[in-house]
Amino acid sequence: MDIAIIGAGFSGVALARGLVQRAAPGSRIVLLGHAESHGRGVAYGTPYKEHCLNVRACDLGIDPAAPAAFADWLELESPTREGFLPRMLYGDYLAEQLDAAITWGESRNVQLQCLHADVVSLERVTDGFRIYLADGGSFIAARVVLAPGALPPQPMSGLDADLVASPNYIATPFSGGALERIRPQARVLVVGTGLTFADVAISLRRRGHRGRIDALSRHGLAPLPHALHPSAPVTLPPKLQRAWQEGDLHRVLRGLREVARVVDDWRRLIDALRPDIQGFWQRLDTTQRRRFLRHLRSYWDVHRHRIAPQLHEELQAMRDSGQLQIHAGRLLHAGLDRGKVVSVLRDRGASTTRAVTHDVLLRATGLEVDVNRTRHALLVHLREAGLVRPDALGLGLETDADGTVLDRQGRVVPGLHLLGPLQCGQLWEIIAIPELRRAAVALAAHLTGEPTPVAGEDAAADLSRPRLSA
Ligand SMILES: Cc1cc2nc3c(=O)[nH]c(=O)nc-3n(C[C@H](O)[C@H](O)[C@H](O)COP(=O)(O)OP(=O)(O)OC[C@H]3O[C@@H](n4cnc5c(N)ncnc54)[C@H](O)[C@@H]3O)c2cc1C
Repeated sequence: MDIAIIGAGFSGVALARGLVQRAAPGSRIVLLGHAESHGRGVAYGTPYKEHCLNVRACDLGIDPAAPAAFADWLELESPTREGFLPRMLYGDYLAEQLDAAITWGESRNVQLQCLHADVVSLERVTDGFRIYLADGGSFIAARVVLAPGALPPQPMSGLDADLVASPNYIATPFSGGALERIRPQARVLVVGTGLTFADVAISLRRRGHRGRIDALSRHGLAPLPHALHPSAPVTLPPKLQRAWQEGDLHRVLRGLREVARVVDDWRRLIDALRPDIQGFWQRLDTTQRRRFLRHLRSYWDVHRHRIAPQLHEELQAMRDSGQLQIHAGRLLHAGLDRGKVVSVLRDRGASTTRAVTHDVLLRATGLEVDVNRTRHALLVHLREAGLVRPDALGLGLETDADGTVLDRQGRVVPGLHLLGPLQCGQLWEIIAIPELRRAAVALAAHLTGEPTPVAGEDAAADLSRPRLSA
């Protein structure tokens, strides 16, 4: 096998497609992934039709050279093209892209093979890597790309064992019909107020939930909405552009505050930063990155990772009616008492704690990328074997500039590559489709010895040039 890709979500499919397009005739590629999400990944394998994309349909093509391809595939017309569609539709699109890549490969004598498998370990051998599967099988690939997506969420601390074992605790809201088992009048405490929380609250509402929902996070910030109609990013003032290019977080913040006071829509400011956010992150030193994570991350997340306006309206209606309340604070402890969940919280800035009672405690914490703390079997194995080096700030794995993995000593591991959210430490913004598709094409070019693709409209890094953004 020439190249094995571990993980068949968006990243794996986009890379496989890019490789089929570029690989020399006679090449063989295998795409390995868990059966239940093979070809769609976690986000687009959702069976809930109310779970919407948070990128406009017209900017979700799998190929950065054709951003409108998803909307074209659905034959959408305006204004639906600029709308936010159910994620399951995107799963259908990806699955068809994968089928098309297989057929395309056949016509070029490039074999793309899909395998439903759980990869548990890798071993370096003379001619590449031996890949071990959970079913006991193994095979050798000259090169391996890790594309496992984000990691499984960490167990929540402070929970009593009897609560964790009870139906009152829901660790994974969208599996095993967990949401459907919540009684409509139940009082629910959701830990997390990000995108997963938004999915949970909307799904409960669509199921006719009547009980009170409390949601808790450190800052109590919930995702903000996209504008109904996209507008061009602002042109940043020269002073701010300079601070940005120099990677001076302090001056950038000051400049952003100044522009925010006068700009008509803050989204135009965030969108102006987006094309070069990876470059900016790379210009920050570890101390500045740590400061960003501690003080700004929550604010960045809600402004940058926005939700569909229609979903935001629904959440707002729930808040206005008092059914949904969002709190800033920390969960210190939770246990079971006579069939109820009793939680001890400390509100943000408070010196005292308070106890609250709910019927259900539900975890909706964000994307996990800390390889040092993970229980993901393959990543645990790679970490313990010293084949990978976790990022110092808990943001995935260290790689070189081309996405080649570094080992425990910081040496490049030739032939072992990384693609997807575990590149956060290197690139910061590498979670959404627009960044991932660019990374997939760049890695496909690198693996096939092509020159790195020239930045197109999708990769525009010119901060002074206004462009439409989704
Ligand atoms: C709920 C949710 C909603 C999102 N919505 C959007 C959106 O609307 N727009 C947007 O741009 N981005 C969205 N994202 C971001 C999303 O992470 C990316 O868009 C993208 O789907 C990530 O793709 P991936 O292939 O890297 O990871 P995943 O989609 O997580 O795919 C990784 C795959 O690898 C498999 N895998 C992992 N380990 C192994 C192993 N050891 N062996 C075999 N297989 C393995 C997993 O089962 C999974 O199928 C969302 C993310 C989530 C979680």
